[in-house]
Amino acid sequence: MRCPICNAMLTKVMVRDLGGITAGTIWQVHAGECVDHGWFQTEVVSRPPREIFAVTKPFGAARRVVVNGREHFSFSTVWNDLPGDERRKPTNPLEEKYWRVRTPQGQMAQSKT
Ligand SMILES: [Zn+2]
Repeated sequence: MRCPICNAMLTKVMVRDLGGITAGTIWQVHAGECVDHGWFQTEVVSRPPREIFAVTKPFGAARRVVVNGREHFSFSTVWNDLPGDERRKPTNPLEEKYWRVRTPQGQMAQSKT
């Protein structure tokens, strides 16, 4: 898992099982800390996460982060941009390439209005 703002590898990564199972995949919450940007977490339920959320602490409340003057609570991943037929294929939900956020910092500020 990487920081959605600076793309640094998150440290102190923690994984918590949520107890449910979908298609043989355990539901998990992954949390990790960026030294510069704080804690982030996301849920994994049989598919790669659609969004990575900024949180106050591991498994804590959502928090607001400001990137280039814009407020964000969550960051969309590139998983959202895959064509539907590719999304329906069996996919390792932990495949790192799908966890990347959509756009690098800077461009992200223009992607939402
Ligand atoms: Zn960061």
